[in-house]
Amino acid sequence: MSLTHDNHARMLDGYTLVYAVLSRRAGGVSVGINLCPDRRCNWQCAYCQVEGLQRGRPQPVDLCLLEQELEHLLHALVRGEGLAALGAPDGARLVDVAFSGDGEPTLSPVFPQAVDVLARVLGRLGLHGLLRPVLITNGSQLHRPEVVAALSRFADLEGEVWFKLDRATQEGFASANRVRLSPQGHLQRARRCALLCPTWIQTCMFSEAGQPPSESEVLAYLDAVGSLPSIRGVRLYGMARPTSNAGSQQVTALPAVWLEQLATRLRARNIPVQVAP
Ligand code: SF4
Repeated sequence: MSLTHDNHARMLDGYTLVYAVLSRRAGGVSVGINLCPDRRCNWQCAYCQVEGLQRGRPQPVDLCLLEQELEHLLHALVRGEGLAALGAPDGARLVDVAFSGDGEPTLSPVFPQAVDVLARVLGRLGLHGLLRPVLITNGSQLHRPEVVAALSRFADLEGEVWFKLDRATQEGFASANRVRLSPQGHLQRARRCALLCPTWIQTCMFSEAGQPPSESEVLAYLDAVGSLPSIRGVRLYGMARPTSNAGSQQVTALPAVWLEQLATRLRARNIPVQVAP
């Protein structure tokens, strides 16, 4: 399989729980761990790229198989036949190993054990401190003690968390993430996360029915991010590809200049920002 920015297929031949993508978010080749091959999530974001996503909790994956596949793929990429054999262009680098995939990883009943699998594999391959572990999460499970404990171990691996915050009002969450939750509760989880582990806020901005987020929504968002002093910064995304969410035909990409203006407003509050339109 050839890896390009447009090819984010989750599977490489022979692998079922791990994959490799040339990732614009990571700035190189990212190995992904998919704890949700049954495509389950408790949110249903308007811009979600997962085809056939369903609400609910994922079934536990086979941890022995995960350990085997992860070690095999990382070994192949780092020491074996290399990135070129996978079709990555010259100069592409293996930059991280991310809990990502087709749903919310911390919803998986085996997420804590999967962190331990990652620790063992990185240790055996001598990659501790060399390959950055990332957890891409909607942050909704940060109140659960087993997830908190797993994040502490994740921090020991020098991992970092990318915590989703797209909007900051109840209406904004309902519209962007199709979920009913308290913005204050979500911000509390983000604060807790940032104390446990280095944390970036990841934000997707987009138009709905041709309209960008309202100024009041943007102000609420800026205030919310400003209330998170321990974060590393914000990773601000547009929509690079059309959504797979069947109910979101009205969702479209914003102009790059809109995202840059928002980034400028964040930086004016001394918040580091990386933009990927
Ligand atoms: S983008 Fe992530 S959090 Fe949102 S619905 Fe898709 S899998 Fe769930």
